[in-house]
Amino acid sequence: MDFAQQLKSQIDIVDVVSEKVRLKRVGASPRYMGLCPFHTEKTGSFSVHQGLQIYKCFGCGVGGDLFKFVMETENITFYESVQMLAERYGIPMPKRSDLADRDSRLREAVYRMHEIAMAHFRSLLHAPQGAESREYLASRGVSMEIAEHFGLGLSDRANGLAQKLQREGFSPDQLDDSGLIMRRQDGSGYFDRFRGRLMFTIHNESGKVAGFAGRAMAKGEEPKYMNSPETCIYKKSHLLYNFHRAKDQARKNGRFVLVEGYMDVIGLASAGIHESVASCGTSLTSGQVKLMKRIADQVTVNFDPDAAGARGAEKSLQALLEEHARVRVLELDRDLDPDEYIREFGVEVYAQLLDRAPNYYFWLADQARKRYDHRTAEGRIQALQFLLPAIQRIADKIERASVAGDLAAYLGVERGLLLEQFKKAALDKREQRLQQPVAPLKSVERILLNAALLHPELREELMPHLAVATLRQFASYPIFQAMVALYAVLPGFAYSDLDARLDEASRDLLSRLVFADDPHDAPSLEDVRRDVMSCLQTLEKGEREARMAELRQRIREAEREGNLQLAMDLTMELDRLRRAN
Ligand SMILES: [Zn+2]
Repeated sequence: MDFAQQLKSQIDIVDVVSEKVRLKRVGASPRYMGLCPFHTEKTGSFSVHQGLQIYKCFGCGVGGDLFKFVMETENITFYESVQMLAERYGIPMPKRSDLADRDSRLREAVYRMHEIAMAHFRSLLHAPQGAESREYLASRGVSMEIAEHFGLGLSDRANGLAQKLQREGFSPDQLDDSGLIMRRQDGSGYFDRFRGRLMFTIHNESGKVAGFAGRAMAKGEEPKYMNSPETCIYKKSHLLYNFHRAKDQARKNGRFVLVEGYMDVIGLASAGIHESVASCGTSLTSGQVKLMKRIADQVTVNFDPDAAGARGAEKSLQALLEEHARVRVLELDRDLDPDEYIREFGVEVYAQLLDRAPNYYFWLADQARKRYDHRTAEGRIQALQFLLPAIQRIADKIERASVAGDLAAYLGVERGLLLEQFKKAALDKREQRLQQPVAPLKSVERILLNAALLHPELREELMPHLAVATLRQFASYPIFQAMVALYAVLPGFAYSDLDARLDEASRDLLSRLVFADDPHDAPSLEDVRRDVMSCLQTLEKGEREARMAELRQRIREAEREGNLQLAMDLTMELDRLRRAN
């Protein structure tokens, strides 16, 4: 057993979750319920199963084991979650395995290479070949002092970094994994990934250099922006540009300002607005939103007014709303991006606009106003229909009703009309759901799966019976199939082993089955065995009856065709089955 498994067997997930969530036991069962820490809710749909040591939220769909819970709530890696739990529960960590040693040595080396790279890029910006970049920065109002503060630099065209890193004696493995340089196809050494680009340094949350973005300086050079690839220290879906510097101010102001580009962040910071961040060459991910939400609830989005900016804004808004951030949208007039706007009108004007930025829903209502003629009844209904999907995404009923009321007033629409549209949309949604029925959970499949998962000692009796064809009638048939196959190679399998072999739909079904209400909570092993046996009998009886019905049908057909010999053979078979009953 590895150390993580050992930890898992010694620490109860209920204790760990209880530190973050007030849990209530469901009757005498091994299940607990509480309010989900991953989404906002008023009634608990977050469940923890003590027997299986897993959690699952039936509201937002998250789920996993002890480590996953700690990783997600603390925003740390698997290894860190093992360390944290071992420390908290006073369980001594074994001497680090060679593997962990190799991993941490690699990370350390890659961090060191990034420090060397940043120093290299910085010095080139000040060198004669940096003249053009310095001019560009000056034209964007970035002083050398600010450039220094943000770790701006220039990558050279002569593979200087590759040579430098090799001279420092990093191993080929470490060089390959750095993301900074690349191996030549013919194997004759390395070349620089970034060449002749203005370099932006990307830090992780604790301020360590984790990656770079390079802006093309030569005209027509593609791509305009290039980012570090994913490495052991650069996970772009969990990093935000400037986050480590922005978080103090964001905590004070209760908000982040989300902008599109690195230059926007630098422009805002040099004007004294420090809580701005940008995603690093990707559209915003839920990981990045969670990062911000740990510090501040509100995010004000200020993207470029062009088409690419609008598309980026739309995608980012989706991620923000899904994670229940309070979103405001600032749209600048005259087609200016934040950096340009401040240089033209001054930071005071911009700061005021920022404070007055409308709530997302009012911004959306403004879009609807621009698009539809609200002087006509038809235009007002179109505007409402444009807004409905966003309103329906608000999970909280009271908040949803209040936003809807505010919007109706804002658009000058009667509340009654709005409610009508709401009902219609809800009905459509229900019809859609009815078209794809969710198979109800049968008690037989629930009892058999729970017995096999919770009582490994019953597996030997149970498994040989699970190949029966009648299981095919259940929605959970793929789960049984996977479980029988898994049992053949790993008789002592755990929930996670089975979970890992399932597709998304079966995984969801499995969690619904193990958390489903059980008529007798906390049954004894004997109760479980009795239930299992009676389920198996029911299944076998069902199968026998199906077989008998089929035989009767074939006998009738044989008689009709005058094939008496066949009819007699089949009748004898039917008799044998009947006697066995
Ligand atoms: Zn949830």
